[in-house]
Amino acid sequence: MSGWIGKGGLRPGKVPGVSLLVGLGLVGATLGGGSTGPEHSGVTPEREAMPANGGGLAVDERISVLVDEVSEERLRFLVDRLAGFETRHTLSSTDDPERGIGAAREWMVEELESYSDRLEVELECFTIPPQGRITREAEICNVKAVLPGRSERRVYVSGHYDSIAQIPEDQEGEWGPYDNPAPGANDDASGTALTMELARVLSQSGLEFDATLVFIGFAGEEQGLFGARLHAEEASDQGRRIDAVFNNDVVGNTKGGNGIEDGSSVRVFSPGPQDSPARQLARYIRRHAGAYTPFHEVRLIAREDRFGRGGDHTPFNWHGFAAVRFTEPMEDYSRQHTVEDTPDGVDEGYLARNARVNVAGVGSLALAPAAPEVDDENGLPKLDRGETGYDARLRWERSPGAVAYRIFIREAWTPDWEHIVDVGDVDEWVFPDLSIDAHVFGVAAVGPDGQESLVAPYVRPPREAESVEVVE
Ligand SMILES: [Zn+2]
Repeated sequence: MSGWIGKGGLRPGKVPGVSLLVGLGLVGATLGGGSTGPEHSGVTPEREAMPANGGGLAVDERISVLVDEVSEERLRFLVDRLAGFETRHTLSSTDDPERGIGAAREWMVEELESYSDRLEVELECFTIPPQGRITREAEICNVKAVLPGRSERRVYVSGHYDSIAQIPEDQEGEWGPYDNPAPGANDDASGTALTMELARVLSQSGLEFDATLVFIGFAGEEQGLFGARLHAEEASDQGRRIDAVFNNDVVGNTKGGNGIEDGSSVRVFSPGPQDSPARQLARYIRRHAGAYTPFHEVRLIAREDRFGRGGDHTPFNWHGFAAVRFTEPMEDYSRQHTVEDTPDGVDEGYLARNARVNVAGVGSLALAPAAPEVDDENGLPKLDRGETGYDARLRWERSPGAVAYRIFIREAWTPDWEHIVDVGDVDEWVFPDLSIDAHVFGVAAVGPDGQESLVAPYVRPPREAESVEVVE
């Protein structure tokens, strides 16, 4: 084993065999060379079947309890109640006690406050002048509940609580410009209810999390992501560390407008490039769903969002934060943004399965240590060819609270991690004769109870364009 530990550039004299790899905790296939064949020069490495996602994760009973705590009845109640305000349009009434966005957000604050004294609940309001589809000066108020953790780094769960609907032609003139019925049950009372249910489950769990959890209902989404843009920009200006945003928008319907049903999967959208913060979060979500919610398929979509559509995860990605969007696989476009987006179009069993996928990822991430730092002070990855010039040498900064580290490897033309290697409590590792060009590497920190952090990838920034001076 010592021959594989990279301290001082130690290097075994031959390509390691399978037994050595297994002894090192490499899950599944051989790496960097086959167990048969001659010594390394010119050997085509054998590549066996890759481990399934979820391999190598220690299942934590505390997370299983959180998954079980999600309540279909609570989700049903929340969706019905939100739709019961008749409209939550961003420019609808703010002083009617029972109808419109003002009544909805006041109720959300009271509801969240009732869950736990540990939750810090507030309305976060910004006044903005008319712009884009905001046609008059307006207050954009996000509903925010914070569950403080041991550290300042933050993990978000979000949905947008505002709604919108076209006025049916036969009802034109019956309503003020923004007061027509817009129940927005699936878009996005479903995501808002999921966010509120996670606030309840996590704040009532009695667990002390390392990360600070933020549950937020955004406003102004339907006019152009205003609430999320305001919040993400302010967080960036304040230098806050946001490790993850789980944004849920349109997550409660199982029956497509074309009649095709799918109640057993959810799509997770993340923008590239392939090792962007959002893609690392997406991989983390699927890996943990594989361990805790195997009854529900997480389909990773290598796109920012659905074609021509937008969502509140995007402003966070603009500022370099890891943010993804959850959306049902079969949408019913005939009900979206109409008075037909009513609670009967939301299946609370399906919504609960999506909430369980969320809580497995959020809970795991919040209990785990922070991801290790793998870049140097110049922002360059601490990955090189080691002393031999032909190895893969990885170095990183240890994370507070971590007791071990786990290296993730994949071929450089492959979307998800293929090999996982546990390396113990070290801050450097060498893989002899493994090409740093042909593989992508990342490292996660592991906490005392086996909780795994996000993977910090070794990524070189793209080269900047350089023009050539020419003699005129
Ligand atoms: Zn929406």
